[in-house]
Amino acid sequence: MINGLPVDGWAVEDAEAILRDHGCRATAPRVAVLRALLRHGGPIDAAELTRLAEVEESTIHEATVYRTIGVLSDRGIVTHVHAGHGPSLVRLGGDHGLLAVCRDCGAIAQLPAEAVKTFVEQVHAAVQFTLEPGHFALEGVCAACAGHSA
Ligand SMILES: [Zn+2]
Ligand SMILES: [Zn+2]
Repeated sequence: MINGLPVDGWAVEDAEAILRDHGCRATAPRVAVLRALLRHGGPIDAAELTRLAEVEESTIHEATVYRTIGVLSDRGIVTHVHAGHGPSLVRLGGDHGLLAVCRDCGAIAQLPAEAVKTFVEQVHAAVQFTLEPGHFALEGVCAACAGHSA
C-alpha cells in the first residue's frame, strides 16, 4: 500500500499529515525527523539526518532520532538502503531507486530507472529470475575517481 505512494507528492509541510495517514502520532521529534528527510530528499545516514533534524528541533537527541527512524520504518514511512560498508542509509518509503556507490570515495549516484528496468527485463528473459534491485547499491568508480587514476 505504501509502495504506491508517489514520493514526489510529499512536501515538507505534509510531515504531520503523512505521520497521521500512517497511523503514527505526530510527536515533535517525529515531525522534525520527517521534515528533515523530506527537505533533504535522497538517502542519508542517520548521523547526518540527526544534524538536519536539529535544525528543525534544536533540542532533539541523537538517540531520539535513531528511535524515531525505527518507528517511521515500522510504519513504512521510511526505508533503508545499503551503500558500501558504512551504516545503511535512510530514505523515504516510496523511494526504491537503485543506487551506485563509488568504491574509492563513497560518492552515491541514483541510476536511471529506464536502464534498471531494461536490465531487469533482460535478466528475466535470459534466466527467468525476477530481480528486485534497490535494497543494495551497486559498486563502481565515480567519474571524479576515474579521472584521478587515468
Ligand atoms: Zn537492509
Ligand atoms: Zn569516487
